[in-house]
Amino acid sequence: MKKNTGFSILSRSEEIQDASKQDFDLIIIGGGVTGCGIALDATSRGLKTLLVEKADYASGTSSKSTKLIHGGLRYLKQLEIGLVRETGTERSIVHKLAPHLVHPEKMLLPIVDGGTFNKWSASLAITVYDMLAGVESKDRKKSFGKEATLQEEPLLDTNIVKSSIQYSEYRTDDARLTIELIKKAVDLGCTAFNYCIVTNLCYHEGKIVGVECQEGTTKTKVTFKAKLVVSAAGPWVDVIREIDKSRTGKSLRLTKGVHIVVSKNRMPIKHAVYFDAFDGRMLFAIPRGETTYIGTSDTDYKGHRDHVVCKQDDVNYLLLATNRLFPTLKLSNEDVVSSWAGLRPLIHEDGKTPSEVSRKDEIFISPSGLISIAGGKLTGYRKMGQRVVDLVIKKIGKPKMQCQTKNIQLTNDPFFNYGEVRRYINTMASDLGYPVSWYLVTIYGKAAQNIIQHAESIPSASRRQSILLAEIDYTIENESATNPCDFFDRRTGNIYFNIDLVISTKELCLSRFSDQLSWSDAERQVQAQKLDQMIQSAQIFK
Ligand code: FAD
Repeated sequence: MKKNTGFSILSRSEEIQDASKQDFDLIIIGGGVTGCGIALDATSRGLKTLLVEKADYASGTSSKSTKLIHGGLRYLKQLEIGLVRETGTERSIVHKLAPHLVHPEKMLLPIVDGGTFNKWSASLAITVYDMLAGVESKDRKKSFGKEATLQEEPLLDTNIVKSSIQYSEYRTDDARLTIELIKKAVDLGCTAFNYCIVTNLCYHEGKIVGVECQEGTTKTKVTFKAKLVVSAAGPWVDVIREIDKSRTGKSLRLTKGVHIVVSKNRMPIKHAVYFDAFDGRMLFAIPRGETTYIGTSDTDYKGHRDHVVCKQDDVNYLLLATNRLFPTLKLSNEDVVSSWAGLRPLIHEDGKTPSEVSRKDEIFISPSGLISIAGGKLTGYRKMGQRVVDLVIKKIGKPKMQCQTKNIQLTNDPFFNYGEVRRYINTMASDLGYPVSWYLVTIYGKAAQNIIQHAESIPSASRRQSILLAEIDYTIENESATNPCDFFDRRTGNIYFNIDLVISTKELCLSRFSDQLSWSDAERQVQAQKLDQMIQSAQIFK
């Protein structure tokens, strides 16, 4: 099997030509967490695999989630025991595969009058939750009375909070998780191209045998052949089923979820808080670096799938609910520094509200043999990959082989526990300061050291700018970043969690990409416009 030396776009046109001459076992449409999880599973089980993504990896829903690796406490209320057990168990597995990227996070659930949970139902639900997920005794729930709750989180409203329960979850960076999955898959021999859109499907005697793609930069057409094609196109699954003329029976129901970001100074909560909104839904407020983010809404969506944004109504909803529980904050539009909005690709169920629709994944097999997977959660990506690859192996008649992904660390020089990650951050912090050290290690793992070393050879106005340029080089050479939007969004999350850095360094970033990728002036202008649009979308309500 082919061993790739890197995951760069620098040799892309030759690689595309080369791939078009090969016969793959499997082609995956879609480079979100589901597709990239399938790619890693398939490649590690010896399938010759190609993945094509129409924009950037994780540019769909997989960069727009609440960024939790969680069992979903609220699904217990809907008696989705199987889903909670599977995702709950997966949390500690995914944590072990990339401890720098999937961190333990204590959640505080305040109990308020008329809330979703009262003291007893919350205690029972979390006990069951901890049991289903096999949580170690030291991490199991803790109950706090009113006074202790307010000591833990002084900004909560003293008038409505009665008590609270603390329980364990994990926090991640959804886009980085997706990027690390595809990097590892490529490292093991998978071929993958971003900016390569599937425009048509190829058939032989009624059976699907490949995909026709348009390459993003040159707009050239290219055809890839395989024994089987899997569509992991998230919110676009039905679009691919339409091309296959197999959109019958169950279909997707898209619901929009938004998050807003405020600075940590304006919302200095000590823990992640899972709290009641005023409409029976529950929201998260989660500290991350120098910010706190709040989400999410859940409303039916009929608009354009490629341009989903946070609207003023969405912001109002989140601010109202947050100010109700944290009244002294008096958060307003002015405090919102950034936002994101994403689509849940749920399976339609008659008569249910958006929040009631199951988050379970489902596999559809069309008469042509197209396999589509939709629904599910970020947290369940590994098990979804396993189910799809078990099916693919059966269909193409390969000898049965057990799923390997439980034991494949996602980075090449991995951390083995979170204590090690913390020590690494603290050591680097003595030189760089804690915020930059924390940011680099939680984004790039131990590759942070390579970036720092490279930065030393880059003259710039400040050390932070040299580091930024070294990050750009690293993501171009190792992570298939093709433009500043890929970099500031999916590779680093800066567009959400450090938008001031994006605004102040956008010219620098454009110049570096332009130099490294030899852009023409026209291309640079196009990319500058895209970057401005991205900034405007994040602050659309301003
Ligand atoms: P996507 O990430 O959308 O990937 C599909 C990809 O297919 C896209 O990148 C798209 O560009 C590509 N594609 C489409 N058409 C084509 C084509 N023609 N050719 C090539 N490529 C194509 N889950 C959790 O576990 N924890 C959470 O905290 C959580 N929070 C959430 C909050 C919100 C607001 C939302 C919306 C979801 C949340 N989820 C969460 C669910 C989770 O984010 C999704 O289940 C998951 O990201 C879906 O991934 P996916 O790969 O299936 O879809």
